[in-house]
Amino acid sequence: MGLNHKGKVALITGANKGIGFEVARQLGAQGVTVCLGARNPHLGKFAEEKLKADGADAYFLELEVTKPEIIAKAAEELRARHGRLDILVNNAGVHGAGDGPPSIVDPEAVRQALDVNFFGVLAVTQAMLPLIRESPSGRIVMVSSGLGSLTLNGDPDWQFAGVKRLGYNGSKAILNMLTVQLAWELRDTSIKVNTVNPGFTATDLNGYRGTQTVEEGAAETVRQALIPGDAPSGGFFETGGVVPW
Ligand code: NAP
Repeated sequence: MGLNHKGKVALITGANKGIGFEVARQLGAQGVTVCLGARNPHLGKFAEEKLKADGADAYFLELEVTKPEIIAKAAEELRARHGRLDILVNNAGVHGAGDGPPSIVDPEAVRQALDVNFFGVLAVTQAMLPLIRESPSGRIVMVSSGLGSLTLNGDPDWQFAGVKRLGYNGSKAILNMLTVQLAWELRDTSIKVNTVNPGFTATDLNGYRGTQTVEEGAAETVRQALIPGDAPSGGFFETGGVVPW
């Protein structure tokens, strides 16, 4: 285990499984103290035990990203334990039943996707920002998707051109807008804000149809969480390059 980043504190939302758990595992393996945000205490505790068994400094923090009072409590706990937050990974996300192309999508599915994938991220980020400002080198990573790219959605030759889910894709597009605007607001600070396309990864979200492993799906998010002070902010990245907006 390389402990290059020992002493840093990271919060990962939706860390009980999938890409979020793997991001937490990889950060923990680099010496980062990982707070495993999870809405289900049993699943969160289970994830904590797995990472501790691997030797990581990890603990479960209850975090349902659509509940302001739970978010506020999580921020208070982080302040009491560490006084700051070095890395925030906004990973929790859903793909709602009833989502689909604009002509037939259930509007309720669009609302559900926005509630978690955008409003949840906004609420968690606003609540954690005062703690991130206490860090000498804060990093905020949004786990977005290539499906949030307007450019790729408009490209008929793109490999996922047929995946037109207004709720999911739209929620990731506005998440990308949040990234760009927040990075601009924070441009004179040491905080960096970037958004990541993990790539099509085998998880519960897609019934394990993804073609990448979770290790591959987590890699760019982990890299962005640990970027040095001279790295860019306000960008859209995937493993090996940038994603068009
Ligand atoms: P996943 O295995 O289904 O994990 C999603 C995580 O989000 C779970 O921990 C889930 O908790 C949590 N979550 C959902 N709603 C929440 C809420 N309201 N409050 C707190 N936590 C909540 O999916 P994944 O593939 O790892 O997805 C992680 C992120 O990657 C998502 O943002 C997704 O959009 C993005 N992404 C995934 C892919 C892919 O191919 N897998 C591609 C591009 C982007 P529960 O276990 O309690 O439900």
